Amino acid sequence: PPVGEKYEYQAEVSRLMDLIVNSLYRNKEVFLRELISNASDALDKLRFLSVTEPELLKDAVDLDIRIQTDKDNGIVAITDSGIGMTRQELIDCLGTIAQSGTAKFLKALKDSKDAGSDNNLIGQFGVGFYSAFLVSERIVVSTKSPKSDKQYVWEGEASASSYTIREETDPQNLIPRGTRLTLYLKRDDKGFADPERVQKLVKNYSQFVSFPIYTWQEKGYTKEVEIDEDPAEAKKDEQNATSEKKKKTKTVVERYWDWDLTNETKQIWLRNPKEVSAEEYNEFYKKTFDECLEPFAYSHFTTEGEVEFRSVLYIPSIAHSGKDDIVNPKTKNIRLYVKRVFIQDDFDGELFPRYLSFVKGVVDSNDLPLNVSREILQESQIVQIMRKRLVQKAFDMILWISMSENKEDYEKFWDNFGRYLKLGCIDDRENHKRIAPLLRFFSSQSEEEMISLDEYVENMKPEQKGIYYIAADSVTSARSAPFLERLLQKDLQVLYLVDPIDEVAVQNLKSYKDKNFVDISKEDLDIGDKNEEKEKVIKQEFGQTCDWIKKRLGDKVGSVQISNRLSSSPCVLVAGKFGYSANMERLMKSQTV
Ligand code: ADP
Ligand code: MG
Repeated sequence: PPVGEKYEYQAEVSRLMDLIVNSLYRNKEVFLRELISNASDALDKLRFLSVTEPELLKDAVDLDIRIQTDKDNGIVAITDSGIGMTRQELIDCLGTIAQSGTAKFLKALKDSKDAGSDNNLIGQFGVGFYSAFLVSERIVVSTKSPKSDKQYVWEGEASASSYTIREETDPQNLIPRGTRLTLYLKRDDKGFADPERVQKLVKNYSQFVSFPIYTWQEKGYTKEVEIDEDPAEAKKDEQNATSEKKKKTKTVVERYWDWDLTNETKQIWLRNPKEVSAEEYNEFYKKTFDECLEPFAYSHFTTEGEVEFRSVLYIPSIAHSGKDDIVNPKTKNIRLYVKRVFIQDDFDGELFPRYLSFVKGVVDSNDLPLNVSREILQESQIVQIMRKRLVQKAFDMILWISMSENKEDYEKFWDNFGRYLKLGCIDDRENHKRIAPLLRFFSSQSEEEMISLDEYVENMKPEQKGIYYIAADSVTSARSAPFLERLLQKDLQVLYLVDPIDEVAVQNLKSYKDKNFVDISKEDLDIGDKNEEKEKVIKQEFGQTCDWIKKRLGDKVGSVQISNRLSSSPCVLVAGKFGYSANMERLMKSQTV
């Protein structure tokens, strides 16, 4: 073969290749998933660009992925008709690590001291293109970009520190557009060239790739063929005059090779929900969002009318600490398609409010322009309506979990995502009515199990005006607050707000079912037991004492007053009506460095 120009890999690539060849060996089969996902990305890119540059599609080839195997020689060839790569792109993409997934993998590997975890990491992040070296001795990438007149060949070997690039000269190898990867498998990995094995892996890993994936398979059909009669039998027949003369046939299987469509290409959200099984929804979720656990709930819906879109939304079963930053989420949680073309998954609250960033899903719109930009997203009336519907559906799902027969379901949800909803109280005034019934708090009458605001309101005394709460850093410290005494004595329930964000959330809500939230640590607390006569007498008796205490404490307190809020403690420090509560003050202090 003609010799190409030689290039050295970037140092990180060499390190990665070393690792791949020497230590990541248990999860080898992921290479196929990685290569198919690259092919699918390349097709997505082409389809996306062709919206504004239709001439990119001038070489009328179908957008698909084809995998051909040569079992005897241990060769696998994966061909896509996607965007391809120019010579420079070959150098940039296959000689350096620019890509975040692979970079993340390397970082995670560096962070983890436990050598045994390598193989889990590869499952989590994937090592992209280089994973092909898990099974290949040599890889040849022949690629044709519509931006270039020429087709180029990249060639690399496992455990070599350099690769070569040359122009494709063999007319047999020319392709109109796209990329063909040819893997020459290592001796022990030739099994991956078994067409049936490849078929199985494709079905397993790439079920939801939206382009058709064909694998080259041996097929067969049966046919009847006449057979020559056994002479002895024929003689018998002749003697037996009554028996009818019948031609003998046998069934044979005719074998041939052909492309076999191996994946389901109708995207799940385009299918009729009645025909999609729970397993399919769960699989789709896991494959699309790189999750290993099944989702908690999903919702598949279509809206018609002023805007038309289809969507499948999911609530994950656990929150990812670290990955989902609650205040500044950068999760790729919603995948937007326009008329089946993948557009983007990198939003910042345009399609879904940030506080709901834990909800994942796909949205396919027929109304948005294909070249939708961030600016369009921000201003579009259509997007506004879509956003509203999506939020509504997300809340329906959460409500549905909260009404589950099994109480643990919602407890689990709340454990994971409760804080997001509280953030919603602050961020999304418009949806207070939806969020408030979903909130849960401990209370003076329920210290072990959280209650809902509905439960609180149902349990209110007839004369009780507000929803009482006290903010503290734990149930124990809430329970021992002196403010509580009189309320407990009167059998009034008090919510314990023990999460730092609770108090702000409740203050943003202001009220629930026309009952105001009342902080029992503030002055002026009226629990409906005023006795003016008695107060007058007491004021006379202790007025001077108060003045004296105020004089002694000076500016340290705002005022010293007689209170009817205590039953056994002699005095209590309370926050001013317009001041911060003690808990808020603690919070504020912890925020300022
Ligand atoms: P990632 O896919 O996460 O970006 P990979 O290591 O899998 O990382 O691939 C590196 C880059 O190589 C891709 O981003 C892409 O630009 C390019 N590439 C890989 N395979 C193909 C392909 N089949 N067609 C076009 N470009 C490809
Ligand atoms: Mg990739």
